[in-house]
Amino acid sequence: MQRRHFLQTGSALGAMGMVSGCASIGGGSGPKVVVIGGGYSGATAAKYLRMWSEHQIQVTLVEPNSAFISCPISNLVIGGSKTIADITTPYDNLTKRHGVKVIKDRVNTIDADKRIVKLAGGTELSYDRLIVSPGVDFMWETLPGMNRAGAKEQVMHAWKAGEQTLTLRKQLEAMPDGGVFAMSRPALTSVPARWPTTSPRPSPRARC
Ligand SMILES: Cc1cc2nc3c(=O)[nH]c(=O)nc-3n(C[C@H](O)[C@H](O)[C@H](O)COP(=O)(O)OP(=O)(O)OC[C@H]3O[C@@H](n4cnc5c(N)ncnc54)[C@H](O)[C@@H]3O)c2cc1C
Repeated sequence: MQRRHFLQTGSALGAMGMVSGCASIGGGSGPKVVVIGGGYSGATAAKYLRMWSEHQIQVTLVEPNSAFISCPISNLVIGGSKTIADITTPYDNLTKRHGVKVIKDRVNTIDADKRIVKLAGGTELSYDRLIVSPGVDFMWETLPGMNRAGAKEQVMHAWKAGEQTLTLRKQLEAMPDGGVFAMSRPALTSVPARWPTTSPRPSPRARC
């Protein structure tokens, strides 16, 4: 979508008076956009909505983590050429630089008819437009063995950069010379994850 379209959409939303009276999500009376998830897609959308609307659109990002940790370059942490701090960016930057309101919480439900999202902490946010970008997650119940106590702490997927990345790095460092490292990629036809068709399948770690 081009910048001009964003501005037109923002003006149209404002003209329609689509500002409702749930919990306030920041000052002003411009149209409200709520973004669920602060990964690459959600954080980028939040930033450019603010920039391209010239701050006319109020943007609230809901994300349970305090900082964004990049998945793509986490391979460099496993390889030892970067630290986890190098690939971590606090969400504060979105607020300071672009005026995005960031709420550290998780969205539990979406009421599309009333245009309200409910957060785990109990807050309700009204919106005029909603961007849903929660990424993918594991369906552990479909992986026999991984549900056993301690399994998740021993077998690292490291698909979510952070603790998993660091633990995998430590495991590799602790390997004796000549040790065995087993790596497996799920069959593409039966990936046990909620995987949107537009997202790359979980192969990057298998290539590193
Ligand atoms: C090791 C690795 C290497 C990769 N390398 C590349 C690469 O080289 N190039 C490339 O293009 N892609 C690469 N990818 C893929 C890329 O990282 C993903 O496609 C991308 O991160 C997806 O972004 P996203 O915003 O859709 O989801 P995510 O990055 O998964 O972000 C989703 C966010 O939503 C939040 N969330 C989830 N549920 C809720 C909820 N209920 N309420 C609020 N927030 C919620 C999560 O906390 C998370 O922060 C790689 C991935 C991995 C794992």
